[in-house]
Amino acid sequence: MRRSRLSTGAEPAVRNFTYRGLPTQVIFGHGTIGDLGSVLEQQGVRRALLLSTPQRAQQALDATRSLGDTIVASFAGARMHTPIDVTASAQALLEASAADGVIAFGGGSTIGLGKALAVRTGVRHIAIPTTYAGSEMTPILGETADGRKTTRRSADILPHAVLYDVALTLSLPTAISGTSGINAIAHAVEGLYARDANPVMQLVAQEGIRALADALPGIVVNGADLAAREQALYGAWLCGMVLGSVGMALHHKLCHTLGGGFDLPHAETHAIVLPHALAYNAPAIPEAMAMLRQALGDENPAHALYTLTERVGAPRALRLIGLPESGIDTATDQVLENAYWNPRPLTRAALRELIARAWSGESPAPIEDTAA
Ligand code: NAD
Repeated sequence: MRRSRLSTGAEPAVRNFTYRGLPTQVIFGHGTIGDLGSVLEQQGVRRALLLSTPQRAQQALDATRSLGDTIVASFAGARMHTPIDVTASAQALLEASAADGVIAFGGGSTIGLGKALAVRTGVRHIAIPTTYAGSEMTPILGETADGRKTTRRSADILPHAVLYDVALTLSLPTAISGTSGINAIAHAVEGLYARDANPVMQLVAQEGIRALADALPGIVVNGADLAAREQALYGAWLCGMVLGSVGMALHHKLCHTLGGGFDLPHAETHAIVLPHALAYNAPAIPEAMAMLRQALGDENPAHALYTLTERVGAPRALRLIGLPESGIDTATDQVLENAYWNPRPLTRAALRELIARAWSGESPAPIEDTAA
């Protein structure tokens, strides 16, 4: 670690940490879809069920056509938040077609279905991500039943192989690309100061943030910019890896509360809240702030993220995406009700100010601990 050489001896040269690597096989590049046949072979898959959302069904079939009879069935009913009745229908098809593997072609919704099927049946799971959400690199599965979402984490949820092909992301609309990319940056920002942070994931996080922050403004101007698309997908992989490896804090908790309680759109909520959550935590995370200054090339990382949100054309105020003003107090109460680790302790007044700023769309500012 660089710190060790600079240590004065007044503090430990290398702090204790635990690191566990993710076992997923990752193939990244241009035209890698052509490697899918050999990936299936390496994974021992002879009969695959192809998964997608209804909108991506044709693209998924076209991209996998060369596999011929290896694709024994396709299910194009994946939906956001992995409803268990959708999983049950897909599982019936998986069993009826005697498939021994699933290919999840799409974003977090399709990969969520792939995870749900693999963890239930033990089949191999090959993910082909086409957004920047990062689910393919995490052992986390969120599922909904009767309108309630539950989340679980276990090693057998992680896909066995992930195939990133830059060309498959060219069709992702630029507006979705911008917010999806900032959503990915949020995973890496919180990974820098996670309770179980480690030097490997901090390096990965810095590089993921740098790559996405560089690439996203170019993609919004020209969605067909192949170099920018490559950087963004590379950054999304790295940020997904961070999400899959270390725990998150206030930012993710707050977005989960706002998304679940007020039905706000997932990626936009992340993009709006991130600069304010960072400004809140800044006094408690000097090392992470130094890493962020380096990754973003800016002395004021919270403001740089706020500016990035504007450059990608994302909304900058929660009031613009459906949060009523009364929601400021409700969300404050809900976050405080469920204890959650955060580098800076949560006080009601400061948390409320954070949410109020995000609601109105003001630029992020240091938040003092006023009357608690
Ligand atoms: P998504 O998978 O729902 O995709 C959004 C829309 O974009 C869909 O209509 C899809 O068909 C379309 N789309 C996807 N790729 C496209 C492409 N290349 N071109 C054109 N259109 C394309 O959205 P998402 O943001 O990728 O994933 C969100 C879901 O993933 C949420 O349910 C979220 O909770 C979950 N998620 C889970 C994790 C995890 O670790 N478990 C991590 C991130 C997100």
